[in-house]
Amino acid sequence: MSETENRDEEKRPNTPQNYLKMARLEREGSPQKVIEYCNLGLTLPCDNEGVIAELYETAGDAFFDIENFNSALNHWQKAYDIFRETGSLPRAATVLIKIGKLYEATMDFSNAETNFTQAGGLFEQAGDSNGVALCSYHVGSMYFNNGDLHKALEFLLKADELKKESENRLYQILIGDVNNKLGEIHSKLFNFEDALKYFFEAMQVYNYLDYPMGIITVMNNIGEVFMKEGLHEEAETFLKDGYEHAKQSASRMTELKYLVNLSELHSQKGQFEEAYSRLIQAYHLRDMIFSQTLSKKITDIEARHEIDKKEKELEIYRLKNIDLQKANDIIKSQNEELQAAYLRMEQLAQTDPLTGLSNRRNIMEKIKLETYRSQRSGEPFSFLLIDIDHFKSINDTYGHDCGDRVLVSLAAILTKHMRKIDVISRWGGEEFLVLLPRTDKEGAANLAEKIRSVVEKAPVTSCGEKIFVTVTIGVSVFERSPSADQSIKEADEALYQGKKYGRNKVVVYKPSS
Ligand code: GH3
Ligand code: MG
Ligand code: MG
Repeated sequence: MSETENRDEEKRPNTPQNYLKMARLEREGSPQKVIEYCNLGLTLPCDNEGVIAELYETAGDAFFDIENFNSALNHWQKAYDIFRETGSLPRAATVLIKIGKLYEATMDFSNAETNFTQAGGLFEQAGDSNGVALCSYHVGSMYFNNGDLHKALEFLLKADELKKESENRLYQILIGDVNNKLGEIHSKLFNFEDALKYFFEAMQVYNYLDYPMGIITVMNNIGEVFMKEGLHEEAETFLKDGYEHAKQSASRMTELKYLVNLSELHSQKGQFEEAYSRLIQAYHLRDMIFSQTLSKKITDIEARHEIDKKEKELEIYRLKNIDLQKANDIIKSQNEELQAAYLRMEQLAQTDPLTGLSNRRNIMEKIKLETYRSQRSGEPFSFLLIDIDHFKSINDTYGHDCGDRVLVSLAAILTKHMRKIDVISRWGGEEFLVLLPRTDKEGAANLAEKIRSVVEKAPVTSCGEKIFVTVTIGVSVFERSPSADQSIKEADEALYQGKKYGRNKVVVYKPSS
């Protein structure tokens, strides 16, 4: 089916074919939408088995993307059955490969191999030698990832033998991939000469195909082999050149591999300062990848809930035979409610229940981001650690509940006098940590003094009493500091000094020496 869209058809999306087209258009966008369109397509009567199978397959792809493996498997299995029954063997085999990858992702290697092998059998029946090679490549790669190099070699060599010239770009890339993987195996087996032979072959294929991801991967592999052989100049040429390309690419993982190799190379050459700086870059990048993966996970989990719910609704209306437009409206409004619930949940996870300020976890996340930004831009940022003086005696005099009310009032005062970008957190019982982005020592000290004086002058009203409180504030600045944790410790030390000097004070941290 053509990818180009017919505008008239798009306006009447009431056939399974049209829903399939819409789902495909969303493939790079929202998995939820893909699933929604596929489901809508599947609710309609359809005598084209191929379209039904593709709707199942496409929905399965989207479920896989959001790691809802059960539903992915379910949909792919249905797609497979139909392709199989209708004699579309290569299509059925492609679905089996997907199922195999799913099992591999869930560490069920034996089921993965079974599916890859079955897929190979179907390709063989269909006379598609490259398809068989592809399956062999997948099995080999799986053994490679599990560290069984000899099994990996066996399957990769088989793939190498089976692959044939083809017009199909996927199969053309496969030729590069097989060579690259063979190179990786030989490199691990310390057969550097063979490794290089395969890598250069792969490089030639990728270059010819103008396939950047392949080129970047193989250049890193070549650099690594030269490095292992002690050929530093050659290694440097490939690693530096490849790294520049990797930075332009979408793959941060590949960039990370380059940084680690470059660091290793510099240290082998005795250039320790450069080695260190690459390593630091690598650490930052790793943190960034990690936090992105985490936040992606969270979004994915939310998406999954939403989809499960949507599916149930859809099922009900399918049964009741109510028209889809109506069903859609209901689902939409339910989704809005769900969205609001997620928002509330998220807020709860980030705030301190008594004061509504950020909690410790939340400010730690913001500190991490600010550290990253500061290290890139060179701009400093500051911390205020604010502790209420003699709070114990306030509790003793007015009771714990009134003490709580004082905490809430102080939180309001802090919020009122800080900027929107400042992050105010309840750090511990009667202690507040404030993050002041893009603020130097002087700015932080001035703000701290303002806070101290405002609190001193204005009594807090709690339990019908006017209670005068004072605070002591420790100030520290992160400016090319070793770590944010260290800066927080310094603020704590300054706070301690302030208590020692008689409380109701602002102390800016000064290194003792
Ligand atoms: P200092 O000036 O040295 O800071 O004296 P302090 O009394 O404020 O400090 P200390 O650390 O001795 O005592 C802190 C008190 O804060 C003791 C604890 O009961 C009280 N506190 C901690 N968390 C809460 C809370 O959530 N609500 C209330 N009402 N009191 C709390
Ligand atoms: Mg205190
Ligand atoms: Mg305290």
